[in-house]
Amino acid sequence: MEFEVTGSLIQSYTICKRQVWLMARQIVPDQEHPYIEIGRLIDENSYRRDRKKIHFENIIIDLVRTDKYNLLIGEVKKSSRALESARMQLLFYLYKLKQHGIMAKGQLLFPEEKRREVVELTEETEAEVTNAIKEITEIVQKDKPPGFVKIPYCKNCGYKEFCMS
Ligand code: SF4
Repeated sequence: MEFEVTGSLIQSYTICKRQVWLMARQIVPDQEHPYIEIGRLIDENSYRRDRKKIHFENIIIDLVRTDKYNLLIGEVKKSSRALESARMQLLFYLYKLKQHGIMAKGQLLFPEEKRREVVELTEETEAEVTNAIKEITEIVQKDKPPGFVKIPYCKNCGYKEFCMS
């Protein structure tokens, strides 16, 4: 099956492997490729003065250019429960940008908790991303989704009718 690993699939991967399989078989809307937009914005001179915001899913990406780096700031409004999926998503975008020759750093902000976390591509975090991409690819290539295991997230999941019927 033809598909491309997206930030949404990376996010699902941190939540539920069954969701990865189900989601990969849905039509993927354009907004699921924000790294393309991020790359385009980084190329635009106009954003030197303006901060550009890109909204998707549970995070808002705020693009800032500093002296040394392009900086992506993901603002996570919900609690740090969303930390792992937001962190993996941001790492994934940093990885995609690196593949396009753009070096960037990330920061996750938790305004309600008044804290921030630096997200950076290192040998280790890059390996996390490539492992996630590899495992997602393996999951999606299977004929059947991984079995249903009820988790707290199920009550907010778009596939709950499907999984629980
Ligand atoms: S309902 Fe639960 S098991 Fe089913 S895809 Fe969603 S999170 Fe995964």
